Amino acid sequence: MELLSSLARERQMATLLISHDLGVVAGNADRVAVMYAGRIVEHASVKQLFENPTHPYTRGLLACIPRLGNKNPLPTIQGQPDDQNSAIDGCAFLDRCPTPCASGGSKIPQLQEITPGHFVRCWRA
Ligand code: SF4
Repeated sequence: MELLSSLARERQMATLLISHDLGVVAGNADRVAVMYAGRIVEHASVKQLFENPTHPYTRGLLACIPRLGNKNPLPTIQGQPDDQNSAIDGCAFLDRCPTPCASGGSKIPQLQEITPGHFVRCWRA
């Protein structure tokens, strides 16, 4: 990561990291796009995302991060991802959402800017 960062600085390049490790994301990225079922569900600066995670999938991912000293079982995100080959009519996260909304079953939510630079794809946002 240090080598990548120094090369990016030296050559004035942007770097795109693809990772499931939110610790790596927090320590190295300026902006984060969280993807679910092939779509961006939340896009924000690292600070915005970690301080105010808004999409239920983002919140679920952050809740699953192991923390030193925590003796409780880690929470998990219920269910399984849908079959990626089938067409999705509504929210792709509907079946796994802990607080599903009525619109999620019929309409695909669009990315909306909820505060400057913070975008969320969720009807409740
Ligand atoms: S759109 Fe509705 S079902 Fe989908 S993540 Fe948001 S609240 Fe849950």
